[in-house]
Amino acid sequence: MHDVIILGSGPAGLTAAIYTCRENLKTLVITGSQPGGQLILTTDVENYPGFPEPIPGPELMDRMKAQAERVGAEFINGEATSVDFSKRPFKVKVQDQIFEARSIIVATGAFAKTLGPASEAKLRGKGVSYCATCDGYFFKDRSVAVVGGGDTAVEEALFLTKLAKKVFLVHRREVLRASEILQEKAFENKKIAFIWNSTVEEILGDGQVRGLRLRNVKSGDVSEIECDGVFIAVGYEPNAAIFKGQIELDEGGFVITRNETETNIKGVFAAGDVCDPKYRQAITASGSGCKAAIDVGRFLQSG
Ligand code: NAP
Repeated sequence: MHDVIILGSGPAGLTAAIYTCRENLKTLVITGSQPGGQLILTTDVENYPGFPEPIPGPELMDRMKAQAERVGAEFINGEATSVDFSKRPFKVKVQDQIFEARSIIVATGAFAKTLGPASEAKLRGKGVSYCATCDGYFFKDRSVAVVGGGDTAVEEALFLTKLAKKVFLVHRREVLRASEILQEKAFENKKIAFIWNSTVEEILGDGQVRGLRLRNVKSGDVSEIECDGVFIAVGYEPNAAIFKGQIELDEGGFVITRNETETNIKGVFAAGDVCDPKYRQAITASGSGCKAAIDVGRFLQSG
């Protein structure tokens, strides 16, 4: 029996583990299928405080894990396949093993949807990005493309106009899905060039993005544009499917929290991107992991 099981080993889960261990709570981290979370797929992290030089995402996560281990966190490498939060102790199943705990922190994160061409995976971190706040700075005075037509795509495009010299917005239809107010801002912005009715056939580049091959879905015409980076914003999904029917989720599938980290189940808390469709940063995930750990400590103390 553990005091707390933490589901997920990204910045939220590992920060929570550091805090619960330092409160002397017996802590088990179930890593998930991608130990370290989304930062494992990031080359250089330049916006995590305390690292004056860029630090590779995997190294940052190794350091967080080493810190959690040093203070006593136990780890199971694997993915929770089902949970039973109907009564205490809470149960988490990993393949054929069942783990029990007096409290839970859900920090299973989220993932950005991908477009699919093989070149996308190959050039990820080499010009292909899923976060303008994280990587936009690397494209100062360069040309970039954003793919998508929703709020995220338009927000990313607007953000990038502050850094890049030109921003293409590539959308598969000729009407944006984004809110009117964002659309107005984008249409007014002279740095944004819209490419309508187009899908990405291939991301071009050998070791570094140099452009996109596009197909016009109406005419079938294939064309190429030159750009140094491409930001893919075609949707974002939380890893919360296994909680459906137990924890309250919003229409996007994100865990609903109240009073910062509480879920609808007493003793089950949530932190990081699984409950945050808005900020999605390593530092905000770490911050909420810390809050969840403090809330767990108070919950367990109160009986
Ligand atoms: P979204 O609303 O689902 O939009 C995804 C966009 O990507 C759509 O325009 C979609 O095209 C396009 N798309 C999807 N799959 C594609 C593919 N395979 N190839 C090319 N294009 C593809 O996702 P989101 O923009 O991330 O927003 C998610 C939620 O968060 C929304 O509810 C949004 O309102 C909210 N959000 C709000 C704010 C804000 O209020 N400031 C900011 C960000 C997000 P179609 O339009 O043709 O379907």
